[in-house]
Amino acid sequence: MKLAGRMARLGTEAVFEVGAKARALEAQGREVIHLEIGEPDFDTPEHVTAAGIEALRAGQTHYAAPEGLAPLREAIAAQVSRTRGIPVSPAEVIVTPGAKPIIFYTLLALAEAGDEVIYPDPGFPIYESMIDFVGAKAVPAPLREENDFRIDVDELCRKVTPRTRLIILNSPENPTGSVLSQQDLEAIATVARQHDLMILSDEIYARILYAGEPLSIASFPGLKERTIIMDGFSKIHAMTGWRLGYGVMPEELAQHMRRLMINSNSCTASFTQHAGVEALRGPQEAQTRMVAAFRERRDALVAGLRRIPGITCREPQGAFYVFPNISGYGLTSQDFADYILQRAGVAVVAGTAFGRYGEGYVRISYANSLANIERALERMAEAIAELGRP
Ligand code: PLP
Repeated sequence: MKLAGRMARLGTEAVFEVGAKARALEAQGREVIHLEIGEPDFDTPEHVTAAGIEALRAGQTHYAAPEGLAPLREAIAAQVSRTRGIPVSPAEVIVTPGAKPIIFYTLLALAEAGDEVIYPDPGFPIYESMIDFVGAKAVPAPLREENDFRIDVDELCRKVTPRTRLIILNSPENPTGSVLSQQDLEAIATVARQHDLMILSDEIYARILYAGEPLSIASFPGLKERTIIMDGFSKIHAMTGWRLGYGVMPEELAQHMRRLMINSNSCTASFTQHAGVEALRGPQEAQTRMVAAFRERRDALVAGLRRIPGITCREPQGAFYVFPNISGYGLTSQDFADYILQRAGVAVVAGTAFGRYGEGYVRISYANSLANIERALERMAEAIAELGRP
């Protein structure tokens, strides 16, 4: 089949391939502990599911407004205004099936062939994939362990050229769990103002934060007009399968995103959006409990990894991943991840699945029970011991 040339530039998410390898082992009767997945192991809070079912029973099964239902856009505007300290109106909100389409739409709407887009590496692989796909130039901003995996702002400044159009930020970050500081954001905001850049701020883990308050670059003076905040329900409300996310952006851009929605999805499922209203306006105890559980697991996993000779591991400040350094064992990240799957029956993702600066690391998700994390640590420690001392 003759495919369009652009298909050669479209990437993927390796986590789906890791899952397939793990399932192949399971089919042979092996037991695998799944620490590759990027989704909460918790079910959607009961009252949220109930709101979705009620909406279905009430006939919310038809096409809806492409930009999202008014009650949900109002709830999102109120929540973002409160948590980011900026005035947001429903006209600035576009609801999408998951947050992912906001990445696609932002790049389609803003980046021309030859434009440069700066993005975090290691980072969520869809950024680079989509930048390449629209024909723009992907310019990685390396996140280094010695800088707690935060963007080095001086280095970022050196990457800005007259062709730079957009900077993608993600804090708390997937896969490293790093969080940008107030000073980092201030400095990036200055760069954006000086060079007239737009920012796509992926804040999907904003509420899965273990210290301090979530900070958004959109809150800095003059930045709301040049920022697309991307957030969603998958992580904090354990709603990955419902497909519900949103972007908050200048109203003019929202009009264009609305057209992109019309051309691709028509609308986000109505009953899902009703569940989303309940997720935002209803009780938050389940969400608070999930974050407390993630923190306990993070502490156990970081402590356990640090006990394994040859591994260094920063303490992540948010999200539900750790990104330990495994470079001492003389294996590539991919070979190390494959070895851990085969030998220990623990599925983890090679750091290189998140960009070339992920070499020497693996991503381990702690969206799994404490008991499974403890078992995985034991099995990994044994398998790693067989590699010999680094
Ligand atoms: N952004 C980041 C950093 C993510 O890790 C993910 C999911 O893994 C997404 C966006 C997409 O989330 P959604 O399920 O809302 O499309």
